[in-house]
Amino acid sequence: MTTTSETTTLLIIGGGPGGYVAAIRAGQVGIPTVLVEGARPGGTCLNIGCIPSKALIHAADEFHAARSHAGDASPLGIRAGEPTIDIGRTVQWKDGIVGKLTGGVATLLKKNGAKLVHGHARIVDGKTVDVDTGDGVLRIRCEHLLLATGSRAVELPFMPFGGNVISSTEALSPDGIPQHLVVVGAGYIGLELGTAYRKLGARVSIVEAAGRVLPAYDEELARPVAASLKRLGVDIHLEASVLGLAEDGRGVRLRDGGGKEAVLEADRVLVAVGRRPHTEGYGLESLLLDMNGRAVRIDNQCRTSMRNVWAIGDLTGEPMLAHRAMAQGEMVAEIIAGKRRHFAPAAIPAVCFTDPEVVVVGHTPADAARLGLDVVTASFPFAANGRAMTIEGTDGFVRVVAREDNHVVVGWQAVGKGVSELSTAFVQSIEMGAQLEDIGGTIHAHPTLGEAVQEAALKALGHALHI
Ligand code: FAD
Repeated sequence: MTTTSETTTLLIIGGGPGGYVAAIRAGQVGIPTVLVEGARPGGTCLNIGCIPSKALIHAADEFHAARSHAGDASPLGIRAGEPTIDIGRTVQWKDGIVGKLTGGVATLLKKNGAKLVHGHARIVDGKTVDVDTGDGVLRIRCEHLLLATGSRAVELPFMPFGGNVISSTEALSPDGIPQHLVVVGAGYIGLELGTAYRKLGARVSIVEAAGRVLPAYDEELARPVAASLKRLGVDIHLEASVLGLAEDGRGVRLRDGGGKEAVLEADRVLVAVGRRPHTEGYGLESLLLDMNGRAVRIDNQCRTSMRNVWAIGDLTGEPMLAHRAMAQGEMVAEIIAGKRRHFAPAAIPAVCFTDPEVVVVGHTPADAARLGLDVVTASFPFAANGRAMTIEGTDGFVRVVAREDNHVVVGWQAVGKGVSELSTAFVQSIEMGAQLEDIGGTIHAHPTLGEAVQEAALKALGHALHI
């Protein structure tokens, strides 16, 4: 095996949204940069996360819509035959999108002068990393080391991944639609994929230890999602725990809230009980960094406890979201280039691409109560929004939370069809310090879902127009 070496200013381990954005920005500001990636650029998000899941959800929505038009039941007057789906073709289409995006990342890195090295990185010390490139070891020395190694799906120790027990990664590249899929965990990943599989024709059961779906979100927001799952015929087991695989491997053993045990038959089990920072197998422990539980501890500039060693993204814990990782990566590159930056966003939006979608930005009313903040809140239902009616999306609402004293908006929440796209307006208004009067006084295009945003603000001011 040959050993070669090189030096650089910035060495980044991990080419996910955090690492690749840091590399692009570092290249733009003239920092010699090497990005080491063991798999394909784009990380979890582009390859096995955000993008492929949204592609599968879209395909499932289209198939479901076509099925709902079959026969003569469609209220829209559409008459169609019973559709079929070639799931191999669906996966190929999804892989095509992933390929375009990951190829695009490699092109952007090149265009901006950041070098991409393919291989598994192993940390030697805070300024030295060995990369197993397949043909030998490349030793890279650097002034700054940026850790962006992401996260891994949490495995249940009594039901490890393998065979019929799958993680989201395998669920995103199915070789067929199972007859009965059991999803363990009703967080956003479990619900997004469980709903997609149901719409693709599988029988789906969801098992959740908490008392409701989307336990990390407030109850009012989760309610329309639970109702829709019920309408779709998804079987939900709340306050239930999975004990392990059934003896014949064709299902799971469950214990319900009352302590009763039963077997739920299934030909595939998707375990979606969360993700944890990826900290093992690449010498991270040798740096003896301060940790925050399982995550690498960082300050508000993404510095770790070791000088010139930085960490971003899922490796640094919640919220584990691609856009947070990207914002941190961009900031670290600028700090290394000498700019004065701190990571202090007014809010980081969180979106569940469930049916209907859920958006949370900033403080909920419960957060405000916990913080002792006096707030006014108001909700505007999509049932009173014309655009929502025209797209059969009247379930849900937009809710605003604003300070009582000066009406500065501190939070937005929404649940409804297509509300993911409202997250932009929500986070911009909070980041810019908008008051209820600013939102209420802005002309919103008609007919759009955005009018519900304006109406929520007007309602908080006591004079909604359309309710
Ligand atoms: P990652 O994207 O995990 O990238 C880390 C990279 O580091 C990987 O490519 C890995 O191969 C590489 N690596 C690790 N160790 C080494 C090593 N030793 N040597 C070389 N390379 C190494 N987030 C959203 O914001 N919106 C969504 O809709 C969304 N949907 C999701 C759906 C699913 C099914 C999943 C699983 C996740 C989803 N996420 C979503 C989360 C999102 O994917 C992550 O928050 C994001 O990818 C984190 O980016 P990162 O750069 O920190 O790490």
